[in-house]
Amino acid sequence: MMRFCRSLTVLVGVSLLGACASTTPAELASAAPAPERARNVILFIGDGMGVSTVTAARIYAGQKQGHTGEENLLSFEKFPQTALVKTYNTNAQVPDSAGTATAINSGEKTRMGVIGIGPAARRGQCREALAHPLSLVAEEAHRGGRAIGIVTTTRLTHATPAAVFAHSSDRDWEADGDILAAQRAQGCRDIAAQLVDFPFAVALGGGHEKFVAKSRGGDRLDGAADLPERWVADHGGSYVESADALARAPHDRPVLGIFSPSHMTYMAERTPESAEPTLTQMTAEAIDRLNQNPQGYYLMVEGGRIDHAHHENRAGYALEETVEFARAVQYAVEHTDPAKTLILVTADHSHVFTMAGYPRRGNPILGLVVPPSGDDDEHGGAETDGAPVMAKDGQPYTTLGYANGPAAVKGPRSRPETGVQAHQQSLVPLGSETHGGEDVALYATGPGSDNVHGVIEQNQIGAIMRAALGLSGE
Ligand SMILES: [Zn+2]
Repeated sequence: MMRFCRSLTVLVGVSLLGACASTTPAELASAAPAPERARNVILFIGDGMGVSTVTAARIYAGQKQGHTGEENLLSFEKFPQTALVKTYNTNAQVPDSAGTATAINSGEKTRMGVIGIGPAARRGQCREALAHPLSLVAEEAHRGGRAIGIVTTTRLTHATPAAVFAHSSDRDWEADGDILAAQRAQGCRDIAAQLVDFPFAVALGGGHEKFVAKSRGGDRLDGAADLPERWVADHGGSYVESADALARAPHDRPVLGIFSPSHMTYMAERTPESAEPTLTQMTAEAIDRLNQNPQGYYLMVEGGRIDHAHHENRAGYALEETVEFARAVQYAVEHTDPAKTLILVTADHSHVFTMAGYPRRGNPILGLVVPPSGDDDEHGGAETDGAPVMAKDGQPYTTLGYANGPAAVKGPRSRPETGVQAHQQSLVPLGSETHGGEDVALYATGPGSDNVHGVIEQNQIGAIMRAALGLSGE
């Protein structure tokens, strides 16, 4: 019966769920078919969460619960709709987070490194940026009466959250002190200043240094008031710096929470005494507040440090971040009305991260490759049962590895590190591991999710959100 109700709700539109039991199919059939509209849209972005990361994280999560792991599913992998997403930027085969997040939030692909401006403007050229702003889903949703929420584990001024609310010629213009004087003189404003002028209801993340003056250890030019102070004066909201203060902040006022000087602490490095909220706690506080707006909301939640861990060749850190990200999605699934809320989960881009060898079922995902019992030398050399496979150089190797990065092997390979703290071996030595260019997945549930199927361009996600929210795109 629930299934019947749900399918009728999807067919006819929103808000019939409550009336389902007392409404006959004939009555429903006479209602004019309306486009599927969502009261709320929640966009979850796992930064750098490519398909290999999702697979490894589901195994890791399952193994943490004492299972073999391969059979496990993360929360969003149970969603009914999926698509593959092409992530390239207009000028790059393998993209960065600024161009990809702009594609998602504006509905238009653009260049690498720019935020909320079109591809006709070159990066770092203020005047060109001012001439080519893109309309953003959050701007349109706010004009339509919806509340806006931004949640991230990175600095609030970092590329992915910035693309929700900002227009900037360069993703690195996070504070005014980050912009060359000549460009600043042309009238471009930094991303932190744009955030405190944006009419958000909830903004939670890190990056205090971008909001305060150099004399206070920040990156802002001295002379003006610190931005959180100014925001409180202008908007009458609550400014908080700890999980406890966030939990105590009133629900009927906007809230700005900045919990760390730069990015928030990796889950793998947090202590029980940490004053920082988890991504799940921030998501919960955001949903509780945004849901009070009668006209609904648009909330973007970023698991931003999956990406940073990969850049360091630290797979265990990336998987810990992904598990927390999946937990935040689960909270949203359990605390929103499925008939009124479109939940999208995706990545902005992938990483050069692979699962290698022929490890046996249930082999520790952060460990050395140990073949199935009784396997012969076909898959890597003669083995004693339960021992790791030896490569041609006489060393074992890990299941997880990278094509490039700071942990590249130089000279003879040593025995690899294993476990959560390990740096996985990689091939090409680079100071920072790079993004990967293959497609990422998009998972969807709720009104409007029927549009999520096939292989799509990344900017189509913006169109899917606009259709669900009934926005015009300008
Ligand atoms: Zn990155």
